[in-house]
Amino acid sequence: MPHVDTHCPYCALQCGMRLAGTRVTPRGFPVNAGGLCQKGWTSGELLRSGERLTTPLIRRDGELTPATWAEALDLVAARLRELTAQHGPDSVAVFGGGGLTNEKAYLLGKFARVALGTSQIDYNGRFCMSSAAAAGLKAFGADRGLPFPVTDLADADVVLLAGANPAETMPPFVQHLRGAELIVIDPRRTPTAELAALHLAPAPGTDLALALGILHAVVAEGHLDKSFVDLRTAGFDDAWRLAAAWWPERAERVTGVAAADQRRAATMLGEARNAYVLTARGTEQHATGTANVGGWINLALALGLPGREGSGFGCLTGQGNGQGGREHGQKADQLPGYRKLDDPAARAHVAGVWGVAPESLPGPGRSAAELLDALGQPGGPKALLVFGSNVVVSAPRSRRVQDRLSALDLLVVADFVLSETAARADVVLPVTQWAEETGTLTNLEGRILLRRQAVVAPAGVRSDLDVLRGLATRLGQPAERFPADAETVFEELRAASKGGSADYSGVTYDRLRTGEALHWPVPAEDHPGTPRMFLDRFAHPDGRARFAAVDHTGPAELPDAEFPLQATTGRVLQHYQSGAQTRRIRELVDVVPEVFVEVHPDTAARAGLVEGERALVRSRRGETVARVRCVGSLRPDLVFLPFHFPGEGRANLLTNPALDPVSRMPEFKVCAVALSKVDAV
Ligand code: SF4
Repeated sequence: MPHVDTHCPYCALQCGMRLAGTRVTPRGFPVNAGGLCQKGWTSGELLRSGERLTTPLIRRDGELTPATWAEALDLVAARLRELTAQHGPDSVAVFGGGGLTNEKAYLLGKFARVALGTSQIDYNGRFCMSSAAAAGLKAFGADRGLPFPVTDLADADVVLLAGANPAETMPPFVQHLRGAELIVIDPRRTPTAELAALHLAPAPGTDLALALGILHAVVAEGHLDKSFVDLRTAGFDDAWRLAAAWWPERAERVTGVAAADQRRAATMLGEARNAYVLTARGTEQHATGTANVGGWINLALALGLPGREGSGFGCLTGQGNGQGGREHGQKADQLPGYRKLDDPAARAHVAGVWGVAPESLPGPGRSAAELLDALGQPGGPKALLVFGSNVVVSAPRSRRVQDRLSALDLLVVADFVLSETAARADVVLPVTQWAEETGTLTNLEGRILLRRQAVVAPAGVRSDLDVLRGLATRLGQPAERFPADAETVFEELRAASKGGSADYSGVTYDRLRTGEALHWPVPAEDHPGTPRMFLDRFAHPDGRARFAAVDHTGPAELPDAEFPLQATTGRVLQHYQSGAQTRRIRELVDVVPEVFVEVHPDTAARAGLVEGERALVRSRRGETVARVRCVGSLRPDLVFLPFHFPGEGRANLLTNPALDPVSRMPEFKVCAVALSKVDAV
């Protein structure tokens, strides 16, 4: 059978794979070097899923019933026209996703701002690594998760992983860490922590105090790279004024991490020839997420790591197109090319590419959590169009999200299965999935990839691009303004990105087809791309990186007599994000079929719970029922729940929607909870 070389449908590593029909085999590609995790190996089953949607559905008399495409698109367009005429363009909102291809993310932003004229667009990447993006932009002037190829990590002597668990979330990545001693910062003893030379387990929500304590030790023990700080950075004095108060013994009192271990981490990093500091969701998904990441960047800058070949700072992107998804204009405050929506020059450039007047483009809108919370409320959107996201499971305080969706006049969901969000829609539009269409994605190292079509889509489904075109033309837009062909959309995206920090203008499908490794920025067709950024200068006008003046404040919610424990949420190897895809794959469900709660055995005993029993976990926002897993290595004050599961097992029924003031990231990683037997309340 002929095969097609393509990429995995899931995480931001974007492992190379080969598809012969729906049969998956790995292939040599730099990020995975022939490896795949269990999710990747079993992803062909998604293409054979019997739960696949193949016809549009319209809710009639309370039931979703089959309809033709013309009926569905006519109905949606008519309702959008009515609502816009009655209540203005901001009465319609759009919600995108970090799994959408670059072309879809780009066209979705254009659709919202040109066809609908709404400012109300954001996407689920806001819940993923928006705080890392905000901190990276502030520090370096440009935000690329890893500003170096993952293969560079092979040269590291020491890698500090803050809130990152790649051994579970992206196992093929771990081969790049083989030569390094690992320092793992995580309140849980994760599979990655098991590989560490030094595992530091801070109390949940105290990441920044720990970063400050280690920075203090770095400076006190003479590891500050003074010439790098003087020549290539700004703001050290302000940052140090705050960090100077965090001697390791003080940080120990807040974090629970022994001062000696903080000093050991400082020595390991300071004495390493080559070292990296990498962050991920564990330290980013907090109401202090931007400050937390700023603290880790400060540490890396003090050691002189960023902008040096063989060393550096980076964030491990999560979603498949988490990087590209935040570059092309589906964010509330952003235009393509990673441009700011409120920048007059950016507006003029993008409006020129789109053939519209700059003043016709709306301004910045609400961030994802604020947008969801405003749905159906006075002054809030009355209609929501969702592409590539399952907010009923993935958004914080999900009972409230569910209620808000019910308050809408119109909910439209484009998906390829009936996700928990699609099941609540008024109109469901069945769309193509990964290997059924060609498109580009940008992986965690800023490498632009061509994910090729490998199978024919089932009859009845359409690409999201085709759906956007169908709606836009019904809303009075010229068809040529909304191409349905991915390569044509990409050609326009190139022009729109030109001159922006994420400049794709030199990338063509032909270059990608020949297998060229193109990391952005690629400002011309004869430019080789930029695998390593910042080697000569950072992206601020003066070429210097910025220290962040940050101090520890702690989590938004602390335990008390009623909610004496802290809960943190996260991922397991077998499932991806809201689980809409992986919960439909038998081999994955066989391993992890349902939500569980990890509890220290003493904590379980105090609640009268035993291994395997179903427990009630309550927070100020709701409660969930999960099966007890006793884990002796867990802190007794902490419980852990994976967030991939639906219904009453949603971890996000518990989570705190307190927002980071800079990035608007919700506090997924820590909230106060109580644990009891199901029948005890
Ligand atoms: Fe690779 Fe991530 Fe896919 Fe696993 S889920 S095979 S790590 S891209």
